[in-house]
Amino acid sequence: MKLKYITFAVAALCATASLHAEKIVAGPKGGRLLEAEPLKAEFFVNAERKVEVTFYDAALKPTDPGAQTVTVTAEPASGKTKLELEKTATGFVSKTALPAGEPYRVVVQARASADAKPKNFRVDLNLATCGGCQKSEYACVCDSH
Ligand SMILES: [Zn+2]
Repeated sequence: MKLKYITFAVAALCATASLHAEKIVAGPKGGRLLEAEPLKAEFFVNAERKVEVTFYDAALKPTDPGAQTVTVTAEPASGKTKLELEKTATGFVSKTALPAGEPYRVVVQARASADAKPKNFRVDLNLATCGGCQKSEYACVCDSH
Protein backbone atom coordinates (compact mmCIF):
# COMPACT_ATOMS: atom_id res chain seq x y z
CA MET A 1 0.00 0.00 0.00
CA LYS A 2 2.74 2.40 0.99
CA LEU A 3 4.72 1.67 -2.18
CA LYS A 4 1.65 2.26 -4.32
CA TYR A 5 1.16 5.62 -2.71
CA ILE A 6 4.78 6.63 -3.40
CA THR A 7 4.50 5.56 -7.05
CA PHE A 8 1.38 7.64 -7.37
CA ALA A 9 3.06 10.65 -5.77
CA VAL A 10 6.04 10.42 -8.13
CA ALA A 11 3.75 10.11 -11.14
CA ALA A 12 1.84 13.16 -10.00
CA LEU A 13 5.08 15.10 -9.59
CA CYS A 14 6.23 14.15 -13.09
CA ALA A 15 2.91 15.21 -14.57
CA THR A 16 3.27 18.58 -12.86
CA ALA A 17 6.83 18.99 -14.13
CA SER A 18 5.93 18.23 -17.75
CA LEU A 19 3.12 20.76 -17.63
CA HIS A 20 5.62 23.45 -16.75
CA ALA A 21 8.24 22.48 -19.34
CA GLU A 22 7.32 24.78 -22.17
CA LYS A 23 8.30 23.49 -25.57
CA ILE A 24 9.38 26.29 -27.86
CA VAL A 25 8.26 26.01 -31.46
CA ALA A 26 10.10 28.06 -34.08
CA GLY A 27 8.12 30.28 -36.40
CA PRO A 28 8.80 30.75 -40.14
CA LYS A 29 10.57 34.10 -39.53
CA GLY A 30 12.90 32.62 -36.91
CA GLY A 31 10.86 33.89 -34.00
CA ARG A 32 8.74 31.98 -31.54
CA LEU A 33 5.40 30.47 -32.48
CA LEU A 34 2.61 31.12 -29.98
CA GLU A 35 -0.37 28.77 -29.76
CA ALA A 36 -2.90 31.56 -30.08
CA GLU A 37 -6.42 30.75 -31.21
CA PRO A 38 -7.90 30.47 -33.74
CA LEU A 39 -4.70 31.45 -35.60
CA LYS A 40 -1.17 30.75 -34.44
CA ALA A 41 0.95 33.86 -34.01
CA GLU A 42 4.69 34.35 -34.25
CA PHE A 43 6.57 36.65 -31.89
CA PHE A 44 9.58 38.03 -33.72
CA VAL A 45 11.98 40.89 -32.94
CA ASN A 46 13.25 42.59 -36.11
CA ALA A 47 16.58 44.36 -36.70
CA GLU A 48 15.15 47.62 -35.31
CA ARG A 49 14.20 45.80 -32.08
CA LYS A 50 10.55 46.23 -32.98
CA VAL A 51 8.16 43.40 -32.19
CA GLU A 52 6.42 41.80 -35.16
CA VAL A 53 3.46 39.54 -34.49
CA THR A 54 2.51 37.56 -37.58
CA PHE A 55 -0.55 35.33 -37.87
CA TYR A 56 -0.54 32.06 -39.77
CA ASP A 57 -3.13 29.69 -41.16
CA ALA A 58 -2.92 25.91 -40.66
CA ALA A 59 -0.34 25.65 -43.47
CA LEU A 60 1.82 28.34 -41.78
CA LYS A 61 1.11 30.89 -44.48
CA PRO A 62 0.91 34.49 -43.21
CA THR A 63 -2.72 35.50 -43.08
CA ASP A 64 -5.02 38.34 -42.08
CA PRO A 65 -5.73 38.04 -38.34
CA GLY A 66 -9.31 39.22 -38.79
CA ALA A 67 -10.73 40.09 -35.37
CA GLN A 68 -7.81 38.50 -33.52
CA THR A 69 -5.81 41.02 -31.50
CA VAL A 70 -2.68 41.08 -29.36
CA THR A 71 -1.06 43.36 -26.83
CA VAL A 72 2.65 43.27 -26.08
CA THR A 73 4.02 44.33 -22.70
CA ALA A 74 7.76 44.52 -22.05
CA GLU A 75 8.75 44.05 -18.41
CA PRO A 76 12.32 45.35 -17.99
CA ALA A 77 13.69 46.22 -14.55
CA SER A 78 12.98 49.90 -15.34
CA GLY A 79 9.23 49.21 -15.38
CA LYS A 80 6.48 47.64 -17.47
CA THR A 81 5.92 49.19 -20.88
CA LYS A 82 2.98 48.37 -23.08
CA LEU A 83 4.08 48.70 -26.70
CA GLU A 84 1.83 50.51 -29.12
CA LEU A 85 1.07 48.29 -32.09
CA GLU A 86 0.28 49.07 -35.67
CA LYS A 87 -1.87 46.73 -37.75
CA THR A 88 -0.28 45.19 -40.84
CA ALA A 89 -1.78 42.91 -43.50
CA THR A 90 -0.81 39.81 -41.55
CA GLY A 91 -0.58 40.97 -37.95
CA PHE A 92 0.94 43.76 -35.91
CA VAL A 93 4.25 45.59 -35.54
CA SER A 94 5.25 47.78 -32.61
CA LYS A 95 5.57 51.51 -33.28
CA THR A 96 8.58 51.71 -30.97
CA ALA A 97 11.59 49.53 -30.30
CA LEU A 98 11.74 47.26 -27.26
CA PRO A 99 13.25 48.96 -24.22
CA ALA A 100 16.90 48.24 -23.42
CA GLY A 101 17.99 46.04 -20.55
CA GLU A 102 17.18 42.51 -21.68
CA PRO A 103 17.00 39.76 -20.64
CA TYR A 104 13.54 40.49 -19.30
CA ARG A 105 10.06 39.12 -19.72
CA VAL A 106 7.70 40.11 -22.51
CA VAL A 107 4.04 39.20 -22.18
CA VAL A 108 2.02 38.75 -25.35
CA GLN A 109 -1.70 38.74 -24.67
CA ALA A 110 -3.80 37.30 -27.50
CA ARG A 111 -7.55 37.53 -27.94
CA ALA A 112 -9.70 35.80 -30.58
CA SER A 113 -11.67 39.06 -30.75
CA ALA A 114 -11.67 42.32 -28.82
CA ASP A 115 -14.07 41.04 -26.11
CA ALA A 116 -12.81 37.43 -25.96
CA LYS A 117 -11.01 35.91 -22.99
CA PRO A 118 -7.27 36.77 -23.24
CA LYS A 119 -4.54 34.16 -23.40
CA ASN A 120 -1.12 35.16 -22.09
CA PHE A 121 2.21 34.04 -23.54
CA ARG A 122 5.37 34.76 -21.61
CA VAL A 123 8.56 35.17 -23.60
CA ASP A 124 11.89 35.47 -21.84
CA LEU A 125 13.45 38.08 -24.08
CA ASN A 126 17.11 37.38 -24.70
CA LEU A 127 18.33 38.64 -28.06
CA ALA A 128 21.72 36.91 -27.96
CA THR A 129 22.23 34.30 -30.67
CA CYS A 130 22.27 30.69 -29.52
CA GLY A 131 25.39 28.85 -30.65
CA GLY A 132 23.40 25.64 -30.99
CA CYS A 133 20.51 26.53 -33.30
CA GLN A 134 21.69 29.99 -34.48
CA LYS A 135 18.35 31.49 -33.46
CA SER A 136 17.92 34.27 -30.92
CA GLU A 137 17.80 32.81 -27.41
CA TYR A 138 14.13 33.83 -26.95
CA ALA A 139 13.27 31.48 -29.84
CA CYS A 140 15.92 28.82 -29.15
CA VAL A 141 14.67 25.31 -29.90
CA CYS A 142 17.65 23.40 -28.44
CA ASP A 143 16.75 20.59 -26.04
CA SER A 144 19.35 21.63 -23.50
CA HIS A 145 17.42 24.67 -22.28
ZN1 LIG B 1 19.49 27.00 -29.41
